Amino acid sequence: VISLAAKELQLESYVIGGFVRDYILQRGEHKDIDIVAVGSGIELAKKVSSLLPHKPKVQIFKTYGTAMLRAYDMEVEFVGARKESYSEESRNPEVETGTLEDDQNRRDFTINALALSLNDETYGDLLDPFNGLQDLSAGVIRTPLDPDVTYSDDPLRMLRAIRFASQLQFRIEKDSLQAITRNRNRIKIISRERIVDELNKILLSPKPSVGFSLLHKTGMLGLLLPELTALEGIDEIEGQRHKDNFWHTLEVVDNISENTNDLWLRWAALLHDIGKAPTKKFDENLGWTFHGHEFVGSKMVYKLFKRLKMPLNEKMKFVQKMVYMSSRPIVLSQEVTDSAVRRLIFDAGEDIEDLMTLCEADITTKNPRRYRRYHN
Ligand code: ATP
Repeated sequence: VISLAAKELQLESYVIGGFVRDYILQRGEHKDIDIVAVGSGIELAKKVSSLLPHKPKVQIFKTYGTAMLRAYDMEVEFVGARKESYSEESRNPEVETGTLEDDQNRRDFTINALALSLNDETYGDLLDPFNGLQDLSAGVIRTPLDPDVTYSDDPLRMLRAIRFASQLQFRIEKDSLQAITRNRNRIKIISRERIVDELNKILLSPKPSVGFSLLHKTGMLGLLLPELTALEGIDEIEGQRHKDNFWHTLEVVDNISENTNDLWLRWAALLHDIGKAPTKKFDENLGWTFHGHEFVGSKMVYKLFKRLKMPLNEKMKFVQKMVYMSSRPIVLSQEVTDSAVRRLIFDAGEDIEDLMTLCEADITTKNPRRYRRYHN
């Protein structure tokens, strides 16, 4: 239908971006399709709607020059091919109309710049100016243009790179990784909502430690979640050492993620030890102690959510509770009085106590350097 509509309007159209990438990767059903029209995306959307039997409503976003409609359980987004130029202070570029190539140039990664032709003579052809197909099969995240320019233009792309690496279990190409490290401070121009969106996607990826160790390696983690980087390192006094609570945490997050897709349990695992940095002490008789870290940690959860502008609702309280209870899972169900939080615990299933026990699975103690070595 899109092809037909474009033909009637005498313009070229292409499927581009995430849909093409996930289709080639055979990665489930991609719920949105992005269409580029060489011409007006809005006109194309209207035409497509008029040709569909149910004449779906076309939502128009004038400021962005885009339009969206829902058909066959999918969101189809239309944009006119464009060329972008950026200024220092903002990730909102100046936009002018352009060719398909211009539009591919403005994409963040080679694997997201792949386009499929919907035009008669070339229908189904893959347009791949940056060897995205090769990067897809090699599992590489690479920017189409100079990575310093790509990341500095829109610093959100740094987090997107790490997020895709974590979701797809790809590696970030070396120059790109160095450019992220160099440009990391630019992340401050990105809204907290978008940052949290990306952090959530990293947390929901199959093995979140991939993303978090990349955030750590590029120095980005210290800017976003300093509570976590404060956990890194092992001190030694009188021959006594404690475990590295940062690498331990990543391992716990992976453990939890093998057992639950619940975002909030994953947040709880990520934050379960944050109280340990401010409570760390060495006691001559007891050795290293983190007395009261569960309580301090649960208070820190509130501050962290507030700082990131995350909703301070029952989900936050649930995470707080989990952090508070992380060392004492058995009493969990009896000690929670808030009914909304109780409900969340109930929804998380009967295995919750086992899950929180996993939080304390001291695999790192048994094999302290394994995780760190693996991720470096
Ligand atoms: P997912 O839906 O899994 O997040 P996606 O690739 O579809 O993956 P979207 O955020 O929906 O991600 O973006 C759609 C396409 O738009 C991307 O594939 C990419 O080509 C382009 N894109 C999105 N955000 C950016 C950005 N910040 N800079 C450049 N291109 C972008």
